[in-house]
Amino acid sequence: MNSAIVSLKPEISADDFDAEKIRADFPILKLKIDGKPLVYLDNAASSQMPQQVIDRLVRYQTTQHANINRAVHYLSEVATMEYHNARCKLQQFVNAREDREIIFTSGTTDSINLVMHGYGRKFIKAGDEIILTTLEHHSNIVPWQMLANEKGAKIRVVPINDKGDLEVDEYEKLFNERTKFVGLIHVSNALGTINPIKHMIDFAHQHGIPVLIDGAQAAQHIIIDVQALDCDFYAFSAHKLCGPTGVGILYGKAALLESMQPFKGGGDMIASVTFEETLYNTIPHKFEAGTPPIAAAIGFGAAVDYLAAIGIERIAAYELSLLNYATERLNDIPGVKIIGTAAEKTAVISFTIDGIHPHDIGTILNQDGIAVRTGHHCAQPVMQHFNVPATSRASFAFYNKKTEVDALVAGIKNVQKVFL
Ligand code: PMP
Repeated sequence: MNSAIVSLKPEISADDFDAEKIRADFPILKLKIDGKPLVYLDNAASSQMPQQVIDRLVRYQTTQHANINRAVHYLSEVATMEYHNARCKLQQFVNAREDREIIFTSGTTDSINLVMHGYGRKFIKAGDEIILTTLEHHSNIVPWQMLANEKGAKIRVVPINDKGDLEVDEYEKLFNERTKFVGLIHVSNALGTINPIKHMIDFAHQHGIPVLIDGAQAAQHIIIDVQALDCDFYAFSAHKLCGPTGVGILYGKAALLESMQPFKGGGDMIASVTFEETLYNTIPHKFEAGTPPIAAAIGFGAAVDYLAAIGIERIAAYELSLLNYATERLNDIPGVKIIGTAAEKTAVISFTIDGIHPHDIGTILNQDGIAVRTGHHCAQPVMQHFNVPATSRASFAFYNKKTEVDALVAGIKNVQKVFL
């Protein structure tokens, strides 16, 4: 099996996965909400941070902090080295060929905007076409719309079926001589669908078209090997991988990054400045203007170390067992409808309850200490496809337990008692 496209049906068993032991690493999971144990099922929005990452942040702040790249004093050298180490950890995590192919950004949104400004504004022209999918998060739609409006380019959209799978045949039909760029979500945040990105990347490359993958919902569940995928860009955020907010990465192939224009101007991204002319620094620095999120990047490095030590395949196998259990239990509740039933899914369950608004569902579940997300999940085209304004979404992590699925089921039944 190609490690870049690990399916969520790995041979690895979930039986020996000790979620209880893992939970002990996460102080926040001990919280009580109004006297009830916290049942945290909003992991697709942000996952929680283990003590190991918190400790790493504390160690950095208490013994290693200074600004980087700018001084010869001890702390600056240590901070510079630790920031570089974090880049190397991320390089290893996604199996990039070179560390300079990893750009630290403020998150997935920032990474995508970097590609839009750096690549799109330089290379996309009037009449060109950009292919996106119905499953995209708004952060992989709006920047491209802004570009299309500025340039007179056109967005073409891959449709989905009623299970929430992309219609790959239709994707292939969208290619023509005007196609210049493809943006693809790896895993849908609204539905959990895992897209066949390897096939879709290969198809785009047969037409000589670069592909950006939004991996915000993938890198915590699927082994990412950017060389095997051969994607041109890959983006994700630390806060969905048990890391801090305010940092993410953009992986880009070195030659492409070198060909691009900078996104933000300022300190550190320059080789020399006069009022007549600025010469830009080499990658990755060309794309990291100003003081970067040093502490957060170092915390991100610790977070991927933590996940890698558990093993992404083991995490995936365990989460699949939670998904299967939760799907079965929710399907048994009359009036509950699961939105998004693709064969390949991460542990995300979007659902509606007949006659009850998702916001009310979230509010009543919260009274039981259960955290789910309600709304359009920044994926309004997905909601439009299913003809719903919003859904409730339970998204599981490897520290969730079957008893928490049971708590969700009991909570949903309670919601129905309150409103029906
Ligand atoms: N893409 C997807 C698929 C997401 O789920 C999210 C976060 N909800 C984003 C992009 C944006 O990530 P961030 O807010 O960390 O920039």
